[in-house]
Amino acid sequence: MHENIAKLTSRISQIILLVGVLGMSQAVANQKPAIVIHGGAGTITKASMSEDKEAAIRATLEASVKAGYQALLDGADSTDAVTRAINVMEDSPLFNAGRGAVFNAEGKHEMDASIMEGAGLNAGAVASVAQIRNPIDLALKVMTDSEHVMLMGAGAEEFARQQGFEMVDPAYFHTDFRWQQLQRIKAKEVARETVTTQDQHDKWFSTVGAVALDRHGNLAAGTSTGGTSNKRWGRVGDSPIIGAGTYANNNSCAVSATGHGEFFIRHVVAYNICNRVELGTPLAEAADTVVSDILVKANGEGGVIAMDRQGNIATPFNSEGMYRASINTAGEISISIYREKGDPEPALMGNVDH
Ligand code: ASP
Repeated sequence: MHENIAKLTSRISQIILLVGVLGMSQAVANQKPAIVIHGGAGTITKASMSEDKEAAIRATLEASVKAGYQALLDGADSTDAVTRAINVMEDSPLFNAGRGAVFNAEGKHEMDASIMEGAGLNAGAVASVAQIRNPIDLALKVMTDSEHVMLMGAGAEEFARQQGFEMVDPAYFHTDFRWQQLQRIKAKEVARETVTTQDQHDKWFSTVGAVALDRHGNLAAGTSTGGTSNKRWGRVGDSPIIGAGTYANNNSCAVSATGHGEFFIRHVVAYNICNRVELGTPLAEAADTVVSDILVKANGEGGVIAMDRQGNIATPFNSEGMYRASINTAGEISISIYREKGDPEPALMGNVDH
């Protein structure tokens, strides 16, 4: 008799548990997806942009955000959506990531990337890779197929070879725009001239990143970059550093940053924002405090894209502009380059000398 009651009780609790779990996954699988991307922050003004270039940049931002959003609608997880959105910008010569990566002081490319999942805090990153067409794909591979979080240089490329990645000829990453940019910076360095309007163009960062929320309510963030023009050989910025350039945690938010990396590392920008959210600060306020107060006081130019688990989006930047695009949980698309009405005045303009 007692045994029967015990069995019955255990059966009932199993059923309650099952119903509970099913109920939860049902609720979570119904999350409306959302995505936000950036293509870099910096001295981006209407006056310094040709109509053709602006149209091309807008078209690529649109293609990127739509690629990620479509993946989410098709049931892809947020990590996959982030990767696909970033791939579009890495394949374009217009952004400082993959194909359009900047040159270092030696006239070579050293690219960094990272990705992180909000569920479980899994992360992968690569630093200083030179022959990888899509560094974000390799960062993802480090996350999924190695026991490490970050691989760098020759070791990262050896891992890529073992994983079947094609090694790309450095010529693939040569763009005249970036080469001329390097020459101008070098000439200025030698002559110590005053800054010209053309130099202002060189202060576009153009790193790329994406943050997504999938149908299961999971967040992810990723960032990919060539770093900063004329950087010293071996320099690694914030983009591949988990907590600085990229962070995601389902308990708080997901962030991808762009800007003067050294400052973003010192102020642990991406984690700093998520930590504030976890402690109860609303997303927009947390992101704004770090970008418009802490970074401004430190003289660290740049911005972030951020999203919380409800799909709220924040895109603060303290420079003149930031390439950005989003599709929110209502399916509304927005693409912006410059400061919009209501945005605070740029606190930092062209601070970066690189
Ligand atoms: N944060 C990147 C770095 O310092 C540059 C950028 O955002 O464009 O490497």
